[in-house]
Amino acid sequence: MASPPPGASPNNEGAYVMSKVLVVDDSRTIRTIIRRILIELGCEVCEAGNGVEALKVIEVEKDNVKLVLADWNMPEMNGLELLVRLRQDPAFASLKIVMVTTETEMDHMASALEAGADEYVMKPFTKDILVEKLDFIGFSPMARA
Ligand SMILES: [Mg+2]
Repeated sequence: MASPPPGASPNNEGAYVMSKVLVVDDSRTIRTIIRRILIELGCEVCEAGNGVEALKVIEVEKDNVKLVLADWNMPEMNGLELLVRLRQDPAFASLKIVMVTTETEMDHMASALEAGADEYVMKPFTKDILVEKLDFIGFSPMARA
């Protein structure tokens, strides 16, 4: 149980649970930057360095992870392959998946959306941009218990 998110109405009483986010990127630096933003938003965070690792983490955390932020370009299994694998599994039907991309990969984003990504966000992004994207897909960092 956690305290209400900043900005929550004072008469909006009740328990809140933090939503868990899986950050998948082969750059530890980028994972750290994204993790900091998500923690500021009130999320719990777990990490993976590529798609193969991400599938292992989500197998264990499948009841907790509500959102995956996946890099596009990664060794072993890239973001698109991970996306396709997750969308093949009915257990993850309600899982939100946002692709994290660089400007040069932007032309791949149509295929990512076709493959079932909920949104994409271009690196580097600010907290405000991420909040906007998460709002748009209906993901709240904290949910009523
Ligand atoms: Mg990468």
